[in-house]
Amino acid sequence: MVYFDKKETAYKDWIRENPKGYVINVLEKPNPEYDMLHRAKCYTIRFSVKGNEINRWTTGENKKRCSLDRTELEESYRKEVGGKFRNCKKCRP
Ligand SMILES: [Zn+2]
Repeated sequence: MVYFDKKETAYKDWIRENPKGYVINVLEKPNPEYDMLHRAKCYTIRFSVKGNEINRWTTGENKKRCSLDRTELEESYRKEVGGKFRNCKKCRP
């Protein structure tokens, strides 16, 4: 599992290089009622509607936990955060 905190370029590189990966969007203080699992290709964690890249994917309140292995990502979340995140309804991971 890779955790991206204020690492915009590294995060964008990761989702581009790992299109089959998974991403959990987490708040700085993780909250299972808000945190959400996405496929790395999900547009909601890549680009704005107009296709312009936003530079705040890992800066500010939102951070990203990423892995190619969904099970590993889920287990590390359960262990380090506790509870269960939600699944994105757009990319249906
Ligand atoms: Zn999604």
